[in-house]
Amino acid sequence: MPAPKVFKNFINGKWVEPATGEHFENRNPANHKELIGLFPKSGREDVENAVAVAKEAYKSWRLVPAPKRGEILFRAGQLLVERKESFAADMTREMGKILDETRGDVQEAIDMTFYMAGEGRRQFGQTTPSELPNKACMTVRSPIGVCSLITPWNFPMAIPSWKVMPALICGNTVVIKPATDTPLSAIHLVEILEQAGIPAGVANIVTGTGSAVGTPLMTHQDVRVVSFTGSTEVGRTVSKACADTFKHSCLEMGGKNVIMVMSDANLDLAVDGALWGGFGTSGQRCTAASRVVVDKKVYKTFVERFVARARALKVGNGADPSVQMGPLINESQLRTVEQYVEIGKQEGATLLAGGSRLRGGEYDCGWFHSPTIFGDCHPKMRIGQEEIFGPVVSVIPCDGLEDAIEIGNGVVYGLSSAIYTQDVNKAFTAMREMETGIVYVNASTIGAETHLPFGGTKLTGNGHREAAVAALDFYSEWKSIYVDYSGKLQRAQMDT
Ligand code: NAD
Repeated sequence: MPAPKVFKNFINGKWVEPATGEHFENRNPANHKELIGLFPKSGREDVENAVAVAKEAYKSWRLVPAPKRGEILFRAGQLLVERKESFAADMTREMGKILDETRGDVQEAIDMTFYMAGEGRRQFGQTTPSELPNKACMTVRSPIGVCSLITPWNFPMAIPSWKVMPALICGNTVVIKPATDTPLSAIHLVEILEQAGIPAGVANIVTGTGSAVGTPLMTHQDVRVVSFTGSTEVGRTVSKACADTFKHSCLEMGGKNVIMVMSDANLDLAVDGALWGGFGTSGQRCTAASRVVVDKKVYKTFVERFVARARALKVGNGADPSVQMGPLINESQLRTVEQYVEIGKQEGATLLAGGSRLRGGEYDCGWFHSPTIFGDCHPKMRIGQEEIFGPVVSVIPCDGLEDAIEIGNGVVYGLSSAIYTQDVNKAFTAMREMETGIVYVNASTIGAETHLPFGGTKLTGNGHREAAVAALDFYSEWKSIYVDYSGKLQRAQMDT
């Protein structure tokens, strides 16, 4: 066996060993005999170093004209296009999702990079009349400082890009902490920024665990902004940690997304949507459709077709182009899914498809679970309420639109929802009534595009949005500027 590749942190424009001298293994979830590499098991000292250089680099980066910052991002976008195929292949090896999806993940990073590069020539403010004569008023966006970016494993390059690109174009500097299951794809993104000419200290990456790297990074006194995507449980910790020093925090967290199938729906289309939403990325998307609420009038037909299609899905190593669903990310996630299957059975839901870990042959070397469907679910069952983050879909019967909306909104999360109907009145009612940050009509719960805001309500988010112009609002602060050219004291609200 050749010696495994050993990766480094990127701090101040150089690839450096962690101060701890320690490393952790990253293995292929479809074949855990395959070691992807050894990655820095960093600690507080590495975080201190990265934040210190990011703070220093901020002094000059904030003064680089935004269109020039955009030129670096444009070059990064072009390099990502050139390396798309190899980055997708590496991502399938470290994360498990199928090649089509990892290509989509890299494409999302490309889209975000080009979009934010363009924002270098926009970042529009406002000019507005003053209430006083010979006085001008305008607003400009100002950068904020050092940003800590803490990311999950399910979109290993796309999610880091959602945070890095808007932060940089606004003139901030960043320290990225990727999930321990997927450090390679985030390192690839930083390599691209390095090759595109990002100045030393502006973009840094420190790999390691949440407690050893994430905690010092989010509590550091010189960090002004924390952007976190991950579980609601950890997000709450991040929120509390940021409150002490009033750091800006953007939290994107869990989901329990719903597809509502009305009696007039195109059922084949709805089945396509439920299959893609429920089992795409093995159900490990924050926007996964883990609940399908179906009008009783079409329940039987829908379920028959859905179950037949789920049973026919080919599960295996995502590098094989014929495979439709890959493994789960790690053993712990597989155990969680197994536990929820048991919970579903105990709660009295009807197991219609799957329900167990896959075994035999290549399955014994990976974390594979069958696509699983529970029918006749009550909306208040735990499998209908809690985020499972695996290939498990709960099908819930309902009586018409009003009931579907009530069930759909009856969870603590609010990320994404979808309605399948041919009736424009039902579609617009759902668009208004769903308490989710994203609503789809006649499309599944997944499929966000980078030029629209992304995020959720209730326990999914804290009111901010990623992507689009909304991301600029998080990574910059408005400055209001008044220029009085009257040559005399003019008092607002008084000298009218
Ligand atoms: P996680 O919360 O376990 O970890 C997310 C990141 O936080 C990782 O980098 C982790 O190392 C770090 N972390 C863990 N503990 C920490 C601590 N105490 N202090 C600081 N950092 C810490 O989540 P995960 O398992 O990586 O991802 C799955 C979750 O992410 C799901 O709940 C999913 O819904 C959510 N998610 C949400 C979105 C969204 O946009 N809403 C997108 C993708 C994933």
